[in-house]
Amino acid sequence: MQPFVYAGAPARVVFGHGVLTQAGAEIERLGCQRALVLTTPQQEADGRRLQSAIGARAAGLFAGATMHTPSQVTEQAMVMARDLKIDCTVALGGGSTTGLGKAIAYRTDLPQIVIPTTYAGSEMTPILGETRDGIKTTVRDSKILPEVVLYDVDLTMSLPPGLTATSGMNAIAHAVEAVYAKDRNPVISLLSVEGIRALAKALPVIMQKPDDREARSDALYGAWLCGMALGAITMALHHKLCHVLGGSFDLPHAETHTVVLPHATAFNEEAVPGLLAPVAQALGAKSAGQGLHDLAAKLNAPLALSQIGMKREGLERAAQIAVENPYWNPRDFTQAQIFSVLENAFEGRRPQ
Ligand code: NAD
Repeated sequence: MQPFVYAGAPARVVFGHGVLTQAGAEIERLGCQRALVLTTPQQEADGRRLQSAIGARAAGLFAGATMHTPSQVTEQAMVMARDLKIDCTVALGGGSTTGLGKAIAYRTDLPQIVIPTTYAGSEMTPILGETRDGIKTTVRDSKILPEVVLYDVDLTMSLPPGLTATSGMNAIAHAVEAVYAKDRNPVISLLSVEGIRALAKALPVIMQKPDDREARSDALYGAWLCGMALGAITMALHHKLCHVLGGSFDLPHAETHTVVLPHATAFNEEAVPGLLAPVAQALGAKSAGQGLHDLAAKLNAPLALSQIGMKREGLERAAQIAVENPYWNPRDFTQAQIFSVLENAFEGRRPQ
């Protein structure tokens, strides 16, 4: 076994059906009195329900969270936070809403409670991506890691099947990259494989029966484990390619992860087949790359970059950006090899 460092994330996690109703007690536990509830315009009704569940400790609702955490939206929320003299935030939603809560915590160091409603995993990380004047920057800081996470399975029942599939594949991507990471450790590798196993089992069931409570519960459990991997471990080629495609070509976050993952994995699998063998096993497949492609196909998720807004003429530039400032990866690569990975993803070919 290679030497390793393991640092546990300090978040408190409460998991179950209906745990949203415990938000008030968790605010009290933090010693706070005035919480600002955050959500998106699309989830405002859930935000209001949360506000009434919190009761007297809910100081207000800001339902303006949006994709990519634009700094002007954060400034609007900060004005409300100051006017209402809040002492904590409660973010209900996907990665975009969690991002707003983190942006406020980064500026104020106020404690955060997060109630995730997708499988993106942001609630488990000390990482914040913000956009100012169209440029996205990423910061890592201990102030950004939420103090409390309430995983309420009931809130994920409404996640539409399309977003369930791509968000689930987004979660799996974190775990796949964790098992071969430079700073991998045996604890996170175990969690990662278990997270993939839980999601690979649950997601096809949810596609058939979106209100299956047990499958929804398994999927959220898997997403939590995959989120822990994202927070603990440094990501490699797959995440780099997704950041390039999202940042420079404006492709949608979860869909991009879904399409690229089988191809980045197949590329790395040639170098580290042993490390990816438990992933293939968790997927019930001979190879991890093929297993991920087959899972995405089974979920009716997009398989090709051409389906999600990428233009063929952008592939060369994407490959160039990806090699200019690369993340560490278990397999060295050239620009031509990255072009080939992206071309396979563009066409949606099954990895060979
Ligand atoms: P999202 O938060 O943008 O949500 C997409 C849409 O789905 C929104 O309109 C939202 O209101 C709606 N939605 C969410 N949950 C729902 C539910 N249960 N029922 C019905 N509608 C629901 O999507 P996401 O994929 O969760 O997050 C993507 C963002 O998160 C990206 O900007 C990404 O960069 C960021 N992210 C950050 C980290 C990190 O560690 N910093 C990790 C993962 C993702």
